[in-house]
Amino acid sequence: MNERIKALCKTFAANEAALILSAPNRRYYTAFDSSNGAVLVMKDEAVFLTDFRYIEAANTKVDDIPCKESSALFKDAIAMLKARGIRKLYLENETLTVSELHRFKQQSDGVELIADEILCKRIFEQRRVKSEAEVARMRRAQALTDDGFSYILPRLTVGRTEKDVALDLEMYMRRQGADAVAFDFIVASGENSSMPHAVPGERRLQKGDFVTMDFGATVDGYRSDMTRTVAIGEVSDEQKLVYDTVLKAQMTCLDSLKAGMTGEEGDRLARQVIEQAGYGKAFGHSTGHGVGIDVHEKPHLAPRSQELLRVGEIVTVEPGIYLEGRFGVRIEDMVWLTADGNVDLTASDKRLILV
Ligand code: ZN
Ligand code: ZN
Repeated sequence: MNERIKALCKTFAANEAALILSAPNRRYYTAFDSSNGAVLVMKDEAVFLTDFRYIEAANTKVDDIPCKESSALFKDAIAMLKARGIRKLYLENETLTVSELHRFKQQSDGVELIADEILCKRIFEQRRVKSEAEVARMRRAQALTDDGFSYILPRLTVGRTEKDVALDLEMYMRRQGADAVAFDFIVASGENSSMPHAVPGERRLQKGDFVTMDFGATVDGYRSDMTRTVAIGEVSDEQKLVYDTVLKAQMTCLDSLKAGMTGEEGDRLARQVIEQAGYGKAFGHSTGHGVGIDVHEKPHLAPRSQELLRVGEIVTVEPGIYLEGRFGVRIEDMVWLTADGNVDLTASDKRLILV
């Protein structure tokens, strides 16, 4: 059993168990990617169940817990629990569907199902603090992202479509060694850049555009997340003012962000700069989020977030200003929190670049 599973096992009584079905959580405990599977975690024992398609690969890759072929994950898990006299089974409330829960209740054979927030809370408590090995993968993912930024800059030419830029960037990063992209890339130009999560389209880059690119890589199951906004040829005084304000907000947050603060305090560091400049209403999203196996995970740097940031967490710092129908700017780095500050894992230049 690996240390992660052991730590989770410790949280159960002898007559309790958990069935972990979601892909990111299974990945966390087994380091094995598959579209089907379940980790059955008991007090002193754990088993990985998966179907015929994955069992051969699982037997070679999951070496610290036994693997068992199963074409009916829930039913087989219940049978194992009954054989051991276990009466209580925790499930993941954040990912379980209503229909699954309904079906599981019919098949639970007297085992009590607990689908409240307890299990997910315990799992996310573990996942949010990153080990050295996890940080190393995220550093590699971010290095590929920085490399992608250097590659695409001279290729942001007038007349190219957003879609074409996004595809070029993705192909390059995958050829350089990314296992996959971390999420669907955002390339938003001109007036489209005022939409924080714009989808790359047929709009062609024009002189005077801001181009916001939000992208990242996946390496060995772990993701990176970065945003840069650059200008095509020239910028107006107002564009420059907005860019400088976002950059100042981001740098102010990076200067002071550390473990021990609440998510709200972290958010505040960036937000107050934007509010003081008069753009408070144009910054409608939170300042940052945790990254890891998922691109968005705990903790959140957000207004009203009272959760304490911890040493070893990796979060983004990504303030933005969005002026509807005109233009927007976002600048995003990924940082690793320490007791007295943070380590910026992002190396790309963020001074205003005119290409
Ligand atoms: Zn991003
Ligand atoms: Zn992000």
